[in-house]
Amino acid sequence: MSISLRIGALSHLEDEPIQRYFDYLSRATVAEGARIVIERVPAKLKCEACSNCFEIDIRQVKEIQCPECGDKKCSLVSGTEYYIDNMVAQ
Ligand SMILES: [Zn+2]
Repeated sequence: MSISLRIGALSHLEDEPIQRYFDYLSRATVAEGARIVIERVPAKLKCEACSNCFEIDIRQVKEIQCPECGDKKCSLVSGTEYYIDNMVAQ
Protein backbone atom coordinates (compact mmCIF):
# COMPACT_ATOMS: atom_id res chain seq x y z
CA MET A 1 0.00 0.00 0.00
CA SER A 2 1.18 3.49 -0.66
CA ILE A 3 -0.36 6.68 0.59
CA SER A 4 0.27 9.99 -1.14
CA LEU A 5 0.24 13.10 0.96
CA ARG A 6 0.25 16.65 -0.28
CA ILE A 7 1.99 18.91 2.15
CA GLY A 8 2.41 22.63 1.76
CA ALA A 9 5.81 24.24 1.99
CA LEU A 10 4.62 26.31 4.93
CA SER A 11 3.89 23.34 7.12
CA HIS A 12 6.92 22.44 9.15
CA LEU A 13 6.62 18.73 8.64
CA GLU A 14 9.68 16.79 7.63
CA ASP A 15 9.34 13.63 5.55
CA GLU A 16 11.19 11.27 7.84
CA PRO A 17 9.22 11.93 11.07
CA ILE A 18 5.95 11.64 9.13
CA GLN A 19 6.83 8.13 7.97
CA ARG A 20 8.01 7.19 11.45
CA TYR A 21 4.88 8.54 13.09
CA PHE A 22 2.74 6.80 10.48
CA ASP A 23 4.51 3.48 11.05
CA TYR A 24 3.78 3.83 14.74
CA LEU A 25 0.11 4.74 14.29
CA SER A 26 -0.62 2.15 11.63
CA ARG A 27 0.68 -0.83 13.56
CA ALA A 28 -1.82 -3.70 13.50
CA THR A 29 -4.11 -1.85 11.07
CA VAL A 30 -4.70 -2.51 7.36
CA ALA A 31 -2.31 0.33 6.62
CA GLU A 32 0.60 -1.28 8.42
CA GLY A 33 3.73 -1.20 6.29
CA ALA A 34 2.34 1.35 3.85
CA ARG A 35 4.79 3.65 2.16
CA ILE A 36 4.20 7.36 2.50
CA VAL A 37 4.81 9.36 -0.66
CA ILE A 38 5.04 13.06 0.00
CA GLU A 39 4.44 15.70 -2.59
CA ARG A 40 5.39 19.19 -1.54
CA VAL A 41 3.20 22.05 -2.62
CA PRO A 42 5.06 25.34 -3.03
CA ALA A 43 3.93 28.42 -1.16
CA LYS A 44 2.05 30.63 -3.58
CA LEU A 45 0.79 34.14 -3.10
CA LYS A 46 -1.61 36.30 -5.03
CA CYS A 47 -1.12 40.03 -5.23
CA GLU A 48 -4.27 41.90 -4.26
CA ALA A 49 -3.40 44.88 -6.41
CA CYS A 50 -2.65 43.23 -9.77
CA SER A 51 -3.79 39.61 -9.20
CA ASN A 52 -0.36 38.28 -10.10
CA CYS A 53 0.32 34.82 -8.62
CA PHE A 54 3.85 33.96 -7.58
CA GLU A 55 5.75 31.32 -5.65
CA ILE A 56 7.93 32.17 -2.71
CA ASP A 57 10.59 30.32 -0.82
CA ILE A 58 9.61 31.15 2.73
CA ARG A 59 13.11 30.43 4.04
CA GLN A 60 14.69 33.00 1.76
CA VAL A 61 12.12 35.76 1.55
CA LYS A 62 12.28 38.33 4.32
CA GLU A 63 9.59 40.63 3.04
CA ILE A 64 6.64 39.68 0.90
CA GLN A 65 6.26 41.83 -2.16
CA CYS A 66 4.67 41.31 -5.56
CA PRO A 67 7.41 40.87 -8.19
CA GLU A 68 5.19 42.54 -10.82
CA CYS A 69 3.97 45.72 -9.17
CA GLY A 70 5.76 45.82 -5.83
CA ASP A 71 2.58 45.83 -3.77
CA LYS A 72 2.87 44.22 -0.36
CA LYS A 73 -0.72 43.16 0.11
CA CYS A 74 -0.70 39.53 -0.92
CA SER A 75 -2.89 36.66 0.12
CA LEU A 76 -1.90 33.04 0.44
CA VAL A 77 -3.11 30.76 -2.37
CA SER A 78 -1.33 27.55 -1.43
CA GLY A 79 1.34 26.27 0.87
CA THR A 80 -0.56 25.15 3.96
CA GLU A 81 -1.94 21.91 2.49
CA TYR A 82 -1.84 18.77 4.51
CA TYR A 83 -4.06 16.05 3.16
CA ILE A 84 -4.17 12.58 1.67
CA ASP A 85 -4.08 12.83 -2.11
CA ASN A 86 -4.69 9.13 -2.76
CA MET A 87 -4.14 5.65 -1.43
CA VAL A 88 -3.11 2.69 -3.52
CA ALA A 89 -3.49 -0.82 -2.21
CA GLN A 90 -0.86 -3.15 -3.64
ZN1 LIG B 1 1.08 43.00 -7.98
